[in-house]
Amino acid sequence: MDINVKKVKKNAWRITKKRGLTAIRIRIPGGYLKVESLDLIKRIAQEYGNGTAHMTTRQGFEIPDIKFEDMPKVNALIQPLITGYDINQDEAGAGYPAAGTRNISACIGNKVCPFANYDTTRFARRIEKSIFPHDLHFKVALTGCPNDCMKVRMHDFGIMGMTEPQYHPERCVACEACVKACKKKATGVLRMENYKIVREAEHCIGCGECVLNCPTGAWTRSQKKYYRLTLMGRTGKKNPRLGEDFIRWVDEDSIIKIIKNTYAYVEKYIDPESPGGKEHIGYIVDRTGFTEYKKWALEGVTLDDKAIMNEVIYWSGVKY
Ligand code: SF4
Ligand code: SF4
Ligand code: SF4
Repeated sequence: MDINVKKVKKNAWRITKKRGLTAIRIRIPGGYLKVESLDLIKRIAQEYGNGTAHMTTRQGFEIPDIKFEDMPKVNALIQPLITGYDINQDEAGAGYPAAGTRNISACIGNKVCPFANYDTTRFARRIEKSIFPHDLHFKVALTGCPNDCMKVRMHDFGIMGMTEPQYHPERCVACEACVKACKKKATGVLRMENYKIVREAEHCIGCGECVLNCPTGAWTRSQKKYYRLTLMGRTGKKNPRLGEDFIRWVDEDSIIKIIKNTYAYVEKYIDPESPGGKEHIGYIVDRTGFTEYKKWALEGVTLDDKAIMNEVIYWSGVKY
């Protein structure tokens, strides 16, 4: 059977080490799995694969050992997964339209976790809807709070939930539980003055530990959601490194716009000679300089007054 490798990969199928066999990668945006999906994944694995599926690091499923000639049948079978997760698609029954921009991954967020500052699934799905399908290799991950269970600093775009704690002095009994919690678990930016709490806003990381530890509800989370956007974390063989802060106290719309703007930047500057036509965004930024990237990223973005942007970013990491 003649295989068009580029077409196979674009369709979210893999070229594997086994002759004649491939593997399909199923996207589950935000990692929020409806369990009925497992019935279909099981059926495909049993009828077309080897009876197993791999849970991927990006919260999808990979079903291995499917014959290349069965791709059209499996593409038709996975349609309920594509429709059910509201994934943008060019043609029903034809499978995934791209694989370059990876599944948007997220921690469990505020549906379950008390530390979470927002609904990670909702925002992950919103981003997926805004940027997929695309062939460019982008990795986006969301985490509910600075504990960063999702390890978002290892991604091109890391989104970390922040809250601006609201103090209600009339409920405060001056027990200092919040002061201790902030000191032990966060940045130690609370202090007691005249039996009232003072917060040094500049160094507050918006984690919400004060809210969780106050016995009287004198701290509450802000209605408005804020985020820390980190950039250009990566793994790999050349220079793995953690993402660095770009903007703190940034809003959702600006984050989506910045990610979308980055596609235009990459299309302009990607190395046409790069192996397989792929180049991690971070290496492109290394080449053009951060200032040029920032100019493209912020095109048409209006940050609100609270946002704090780093004008310059230095990355380091491991140099192999
Ligand atoms: S990152 Fe924060 S919100 Fe997300 S699971 Fe971990 S502790 Fe919970
Ligand atoms: S949100 Fe976190 S860093 Fe800010 S005051 Fe509360 S505990 Fe401290
Ligand atoms: S934990 Fe609550 S009640 Fe205690 S000092 Fe802090 S704000 Fe006041």
